[in-house]
Amino acid sequence: MQQVSEELIIKGLSGSEGIAIGSTFVVDLSRRSVAPKIINSLQIRSNVKRFQKAKILFLDEIEELSKNLDKATREIFEAQKHIVSDVEIDEKVLHLIETEKFSVDYAIFETFGGFIERLRESGSEIFQQRIVDLENLRNRLIDLSCENEDQKKIPKNSILIVKEISPTDLVNFHELGIKALVMEKGGVTSHASIIAQSLEIPCVVSAKNVLHSSRTGTPAVVDGTSGSIVINPSDQTLSEYKQRIKARTKQKKARQQVHEESVTKDGVEFHLRANVEFIQELELVKKNRAEGVGLLRTEALLYGGFEKRSEEAQIEFYDKILKELKGPVTIRLFDVGGDKLNIHNQDEDNPFLGWRGIRMLLDEKQILENQLRSVLKVSGKYKERIQILVPMITDVREVVEVKQVLKEIKEELRENEIPFDDHIRVGVMVEVPSVALLASQFAKEVDFFSIGTNDLTQYTLAVDRGNERICELYQHNHPAVWQLIHQTIYAGNNNKVPVAVCGELAGDIIGASALIGMGVTDLSMSVHSIPRIKQHLRSHTLDKFRLLAQKILVSSSAEEVKAEFKALFPDYS
Ligand code: PEP
Ligand code: MG
Repeated sequence: MQQVSEELIIKGLSGSEGIAIGSTFVVDLSRRSVAPKIINSLQIRSNVKRFQKAKILFLDEIEELSKNLDKATREIFEAQKHIVSDVEIDEKVLHLIETEKFSVDYAIFETFGGFIERLRESGSEIFQQRIVDLENLRNRLIDLSCENEDQKKIPKNSILIVKEISPTDLVNFHELGIKALVMEKGGVTSHASIIAQSLEIPCVVSAKNVLHSSRTGTPAVVDGTSGSIVINPSDQTLSEYKQRIKARTKQKKARQQVHEESVTKDGVEFHLRANVEFIQELELVKKNRAEGVGLLRTEALLYGGFEKRSEEAQIEFYDKILKELKGPVTIRLFDVGGDKLNIHNQDEDNPFLGWRGIRMLLDEKQILENQLRSVLKVSGKYKERIQILVPMITDVREVVEVKQVLKEIKEELRENEIPFDDHIRVGVMVEVPSVALLASQFAKEVDFFSIGTNDLTQYTLAVDRGNERICELYQHNHPAVWQLIHQTIYAGNNNKVPVAVCGELAGDIIGASALIGMGVTDLSMSVHSIPRIKQHLRSHTLDKFRLLAQKILVSSSAEEVKAEFKALFPDYS
C-alpha cells in the first residue's frame, strides 16, 4: 500500500452529488473466490438449512432496510428479492449441495458465478455494471449462510472506501453513520450510485486504484459533484471545499423551507408567484410551491404560427396551466416586438421603442380579440382565478381601448351563451416611466398594477437590456427605478389598487427585501428564485425591510443601494 502524505486527487465519476470532508475508512468487501469444499452426507441437511436461512435473513434484511427509502431504491431491493427467490438459482444451489455435495458457500458462489459469466460474455456496458451488483448479492448471501456478519467498527462520519459494495451493505453502513462513499468499481448507474443518491450521501464511483492509494484514517474530501476524491487535502483545498459546503447548506435549507408558510419573521404574509412561459415549467412551479402564476408570458404561442395562436390552441394552453396549478394566474396579452418575436418580420431602427406590445395589438385587432376571447372562455371554467395583464402600456387611452374591446367580446359571448367570468380583472404592466409617473390617473382605469422592472429599468436608464456592451449600466436596483416603483405603490395605495411586481427585481434578494419594505407583498419571479427569496424573507422582520426601503429612497446610486443592504444584512453574500 502506498503511503500518501501529499495532496492526491483521484478522478472518478459522479455517483451522487454533494461534498464531504472526513477521514477515510478502507474496507475490502470483495470476495474474489471461494474454494470448492466437499461435505459429507451428514452435513447436507445443515448446509441446505443454512442456505434457506440465509435467504430468509436476506429477505428480512431487505424488507427492513427498504422501509424508509425512496421508490428507486425500493425497486432495486425488489429486483434483488426476485433474484434471491428465483427457482433456477434455488434448484442449482440445492443440486450442488445435495447431489454434488459441495458446501453451501461454494454452491452459492458457483451458481451466481454462472450468471455473472454469462453477463460478462455479453460485453454490454450496462451488464458490466449489473455484474458488480450480482457479485455483491452473492457475497451477502455467502456471508449470511456462514453467519459471518462482519460487525463493522466504523467511526461515525467516515468516508467509506471500497472496491464495490452491495445495496444492503451500503444501507447498513449508512445507518452506522458514514458521510460519503468512494468505490473503485461501478458506474454512474450502479445500484450503489442510485442508493447513495437516495440516502443523500456524496458518492464517487470508478475511482481507479483508490483502495491502493488510501489507508484508513487519512483526511480526505469527496466531491460527489465533480466525481473526485482528494486524499490529504491542502489547507487551501480544505478551505475552498468548506466554502462550497456552506453555500450548498444554504441552498438546501432554502429548498427545505419552500413548504413553510410565506411570512416574515414577525408574521407579515407575502405571496411568491411564478413567472411562467412554457408547460414544461409547471412541475418546478409545483415543487417550489409558487402561489400561482404572477406573470404568464404568452408570446410562445405566436412562435408556432397561425395554428398555435388559434383560439383552440390558446384555450388548451391556458386550461392546462389552470388545471395543473392552484391559485391565481395572471395572463399577459401578447407582448411582441422589441427583443421578442417580430410577427411581420419588419425591421425597425429602434425596436424597443417601436411597434411593441399593446401598440401592435391595437393595430392588429383580430389577434387581440382572439386572445381576449380565448382567455374569457377559459375564465368561465375557473372563476376568479384569472386576471388579464396588458403589456407595454404608455398612455391611459390604450387601457381604455383594450377595455372597450374586452367589453365587446363579453357581449358576443353573452349573446352566444358562452360562460365567462364577468368580473375578470384587468391590469397593466408598469414598465414604462410614463405609467409610473401617472400612476394615480391609471389607477382610475385598472384593477391592478404589475411592475415590470426589466423594461422599467431599460426605459428609465436608457439602457438596452440585451446589449452586452453596456450591461454594467443596466442596474435594476438604481435609485431612479426605485423612485418610480415607490411612486406607483403610493398611487396604488391611495386608490386601493393592488400593486404586484413581476420583473426580475422581485427575485433579487435586495429587490425583494426593499419591495416588502415598501409594502408590496405580491412578488412574481423566475421559479428558481423562489426558495432563496422565501428563506430570506422568512428570516427577517418587516421593520428591517422598511429601514432598507427608507435608505434606498434617499440613495443616489445602485452602489449605495447595495452598500445599505450589506450594512443591514451583513450575513448575506
Ligand atoms: C418586465 O419587463 O419586467 C417583464 C416582466 O416583462 P418581460 O421581461 O417579459 O418584458
Ligand atoms: Mg416587459
